[in-house]
Amino acid sequence: MTPLGSTSVLPSAAVGSPDARLVIVGGGQAAGAALKTLRQLDYMGSIVLVSDEAFAPYERPPLSKEYLWGMGQDLRAVAPDERSNEQLRLDRRVVSGDVASRTLFCSDGSTLSYSALLLATGGVPRRLRVPGAELGGVHALRSAGDALSLRRSIERCRQERRTLLIVGGSWIGLEVAAGAQAAGLDVTLVEQGGRLCSRTLPIAAADWLRRFHVSRGVDVRLGCSVLRLDGDADVRSAQLSDGSALPVGAVVVGIGIDPSTSLAEQMGLQVRSGIVVDRNCRTSVPEIFAAGDVAEHVCPWHRVPVRIETWDNANRQGAIAARQIAGSGAALQLVKPVQALGDDLQGPLEGASDRSCTAPPWFWSDQYGVNLQVIGAPLCGDTVLAGAGGNATVDSPLFIYLRGDAVIGAVGINRPREMRRLRKLLAERSDLQRDALIAEGFDVAHAEPALCS
Ligand SMILES: Cc1cc2nc3c(=O)[nH]c(=O)nc-3n(C[C@H](O)[C@H](O)[C@H](O)COP(=O)(O)OP(=O)(O)OC[C@H]3O[C@@H](n4cnc5c(N)ncnc54)[C@H](O)[C@@H]3O)c2cc1C
Repeated sequence: MTPLGSTSVLPSAAVGSPDARLVIVGGGQAAGAALKTLRQLDYMGSIVLVSDEAFAPYERPPLSKEYLWGMGQDLRAVAPDERSNEQLRLDRRVVSGDVASRTLFCSDGSTLSYSALLLATGGVPRRLRVPGAELGGVHALRSAGDALSLRRSIERCRQERRTLLIVGGSWIGLEVAAGAQAAGLDVTLVEQGGRLCSRTLPIAAADWLRRFHVSRGVDVRLGCSVLRLDGDADVRSAQLSDGSALPVGAVVVGIGIDPSTSLAEQMGLQVRSGIVVDRNCRTSVPEIFAAGDVAEHVCPWHRVPVRIETWDNANRQGAIAARQIAGSGAALQLVKPVQALGDDLQGPLEGASDRSCTAPPWFWSDQYGVNLQVIGAPLCGDTVLAGAGGNATVDSPLFIYLRGDAVIGAVGINRPREMRRLRKLLAERSDLQRDALIAEGFDVAHAEPALCS
């Protein structure tokens, strides 16, 4: 993994006026990455972080992996060891804010003033909207608390030899399915769409993943949804759209998140699919930044406004926002007119002040001990390169996608070495051409049309 801030040159002197007052709303990955970066920069202003969770920022990826299965007992802190200029205010929400007076209002009745504000509010899991969705044993998986209560339900499922039903064929559901299957549970996964991970994977890669899970014994049902859940206090059965009634012991709902934009909306910031930010994570109000799952930006790889819900993006954007805040403390005092972000969002990337905002998106998943990685925007490809194991029959396929002649993305299954190299190459050269890829030693002689939708 790329160390935080590896692409930037850190100033040697402490930055940020001691009078500067930064408030970070949210206590997740992006908030933690911002804190870490501000420490690296020796930021001298005061920092107040407000989180509605009971813990300081912690890593979420283990929640659907080792933590869920009781293997990593402790939460992994994103930014351990509080500094004297930092204050963590946990277990409370920021409920509203006033842009004119730069004031925030918290659920415990307190108010906070800020000179700069970072919104890192993430998102909340979408709920299943069917009868019975409120029964016990029906779980979302976003927080440490969610993981602990799911762990208890899974244990009950195992003791009672009942099926674990996963609703939604996306990354979190698939990781839970893999872990549960490996732990000896019967697992059924329903996905209402025609393939797994349709928002991130082209057809060939998604199909490989489906066959992988089926080969491990998961009952994967595509084009299938839950009509209702039944039980007394706890869920006992699920009526599915394929006509079957499935006895179940617990249900995991992994059907995506809704970004937590209500505070931004109430404060009058520009919000579309998320809080709209420019390449420096600045919102439509100059002294307010947003980062992570909640932020919508124009990704140079997707070429359209997107919200990217990955660990890497949260780290990167948290760090970018922190560098902006630390580096522009004085400028923040100037009253800039609130302007539409449209021009800036569509503008050329050459002016980007932070190189890490042009590096390709990246994420990973671990399933049955197999490492899956996605780089860039594979769904934007028109051609897939075969010959690098890029056919769906091999155990460790590498799918490389081109738009025109330029590499636009890749999906690698148990190919960490190649994916690391590709990621580095694409970070250095965002216009990497097919010929150059071959010259780098990738065996990608054969091309065929990419089926992305
Ligand atoms: C179970 C799980 C497994 C994952 N695995 C992977 C993986 O393998 N690979 C990968 O790349 N990504 C993975 N991710 C995604 C990655 O963890 C997220 O993209 C990342 O955590 C997003 O960080 P964030 O800071 O934007 O949001 P979050 O981490 O969700 O943090 C937002 C925080 O803000 C708080 N908050 C919201 N509103 C308020 C308010 N008004 N006042 C106070 N606090 C507020 C929330 O409670 C939360 O603590 C996983 C996510 C989950 C949930």
